[in-house]
Amino acid sequence: MEEKIKALQDKLNRYNYEYHVLDAPSVPDSEYDKLLHELIELEAAYPEFKTDTSPTVRVGGAVLDRFRKVQHDTPMLSLGNAFDEDSLRAFDKRVREAVGEVEYMCELKIDGLAVSLKYEDGKFVQGATRGDGTVGEDITANLRTIRAIPLELTSSLSFEVRGEAYMPKPAFEKLNEAREAKGEALFQNPRNAAAGSLRQLDPKLAGKRNLSIFLYSVNDLSGLSAKTQDEALKRLDGEGFKTNRERRLVDDIEGVLDYVGYWSNRRNDLDYDIDGIVIKVNALNAQEQLGFTAKSPRWAIAYKFPAEEVVTDLLDIELTVGRTGAITPTALLKPVKVAGTTVARASLHNHELIEQKDIRINDKVIIRKAGDIIPEVVRPILEERTDQKVYKAPTECPGCGHETVKLEDEVAIRCINPGCPAQLVEGMIHFVSRTAMNIDGLGEKVVKQLFDAGLINDVGDIYALTREDLLPLERMGEKKTTNLLEAIEASKANPLRKLLVGLGIRFVGAKASELIAQEFGTMDEIMAQPKERLVEVPEIGEKIADSIVTYTHHPDFRALVDKLKHYSVNMTEEVQEAASNAFEGMTFVLTGKLEQLTRNEAKALIEDAGGKVAGSVSQKTDVVVAGEEAGSKLETAQSLGVSVWDEAEFLEKTGRQS
Ligand code: NAD
Repeated sequence: MEEKIKALQDKLNRYNYEYHVLDAPSVPDSEYDKLLHELIELEAAYPEFKTDTSPTVRVGGAVLDRFRKVQHDTPMLSLGNAFDEDSLRAFDKRVREAVGEVEYMCELKIDGLAVSLKYEDGKFVQGATRGDGTVGEDITANLRTIRAIPLELTSSLSFEVRGEAYMPKPAFEKLNEAREAKGEALFQNPRNAAAGSLRQLDPKLAGKRNLSIFLYSVNDLSGLSAKTQDEALKRLDGEGFKTNRERRLVDDIEGVLDYVGYWSNRRNDLDYDIDGIVIKVNALNAQEQLGFTAKSPRWAIAYKFPAEEVVTDLLDIELTVGRTGAITPTALLKPVKVAGTTVARASLHNHELIEQKDIRINDKVIIRKAGDIIPEVVRPILEERTDQKVYKAPTECPGCGHETVKLEDEVAIRCINPGCPAQLVEGMIHFVSRTAMNIDGLGEKVVKQLFDAGLINDVGDIYALTREDLLPLERMGEKKTTNLLEAIEASKANPLRKLLVGLGIRFVGAKASELIAQEFGTMDEIMAQPKERLVEVPEIGEKIADSIVTYTHHPDFRALVDKLKHYSVNMTEEVQEAASNAFEGMTFVLTGKLEQLTRNEAKALIEDAGGKVAGSVSQKTDVVVAGEEAGSKLETAQSLGVSVWDEAEFLEKTGRQS
């Protein structure tokens, strides 16, 4: 057991070094937290193996020699952690047992780098990192470049404030884009980028990194005469410091849970990273009574959000052939919880990326899932690698065995065999899907079943299906057969736009199909148009027009259209005449909240009158319709001299007097 504990201590100390000293962690925080938790439990069971250097008793990491050392007046500590409601309630119970009922200040836990700022007679004189909690690094010159840090205060206070320096997400993305262009190593996340920027020697470089800061505590409050965290933060606001305005003072633990719930769903809306919520007892005298442990205050706790990055095993790489022949790799994973849901598959994007990142089957990999994004494999953990084989992009299509190709301007590897069954099936699945012909009862499984039975080879065959074809199939039965045949029959009457989507012309989705069908009315008309005429349709660009011409002139496409015509599939679109042409040729932009209309209703009114709605204001905009709380679009309109109508004027012009 001693060996196991020692190994865990060493591993965590190494992770601490990578994270706090090098600003380049090799594993996600969740992995570090999991192992730390394991160590805490082992050390509790075997206290004889707990040492002074164990990561369970130490804060942060060593300070770098290249900076002057700064002794902190009072230690800069860590925070106790809570990962669920029960631990928050247990924290609240401990607090109330010690000091009675309390209010809590809830703050966002900014994911950056803790810093201390010292002011003397109202002037910023010294800034330092947390370091090992007792001794930090003097990074005054770098901190001076952060515009949110006032170099001089309005009053002549002498005190120390503490806060979190961070890199806003847009600045982080820009920085990494620039580094990628220069072939430099990328920062893994905004926290590491912020820490790396502040812990290098050239203040000019730090100045270019667009860092910012939120201040959240005052070390010596005597000068501020504040009695609560709330008052202290307000005083900081008054002195010109930047505090985080999303904080909320709540009466009790229910208020805390409410705040935690609120931000758990909205963390990705912020333009800076947060990794949790910090809950602090508001009254400073109660804080004093509660005091500190060696590592953290007893009057505060950090609730950590479910991790968005975790480590798991990559079991296999699955290849799927899409309807355009692109062969996409997907990682099959040992199921793991990430951002609150269990994940067993993750995107690998494309083969080039797998090779670049050197991801191999049986690797331990980092998986990321944030907000609504599809889970993705970030990278393998190289130090955990044993003898995994290098991944090779497929040279043969997994659907038909034909040789694959890689077109010059694409990252995708493709199968270009027109008879590739995998593509045919995908194309047919697309044809019957909801956005296209919407044939009920003809899902992915049934399409595959019909294809395997040799009953359908292209979408035209769907319309030739008979009762006798379907009945003998497994899991089909009388009722299902009847329903399916009825749904197929009904789909023949779909408007042309649905058929166009279903035919899978590249770049032609629901919106473009609608525009084209409305403009030309019949399939024959569409097939007769040259590119020059197609690009005249508003919102249809060169790429779409090119694709339509290429597809519709292909003999296979024409043969398929003839086949569909033969089965009486509708090839026309009812063209909606604009009600009046009052807005013919005019471009509108909608902004702000309208009282009497929804956005879609307003849009429909404009389009019915022959106008067009665009997303942003430019010289080409004729009118901006501005509702309540209209923002930057209204400003742009005013600066460009574009006409602005309020809702009443808009309703009047559309003949819908308010
Ligand atoms: P912590 O980050 O969990 O909490 C303490 C810190 O929270 C404070 O120092 C302060 O900087 C910050 N903070 C942000 N907003 C705050 C606010 N409003 N009020 C008060 N404090 C606020 O604890 P820690 O000891 O600083 O570091 C541990 C963290 O570092 C863990 O998340 C751990 O996973 C991570 N870590 C990761 C690795 C790795 O290899 N990936 C290694 C070591 C540590």
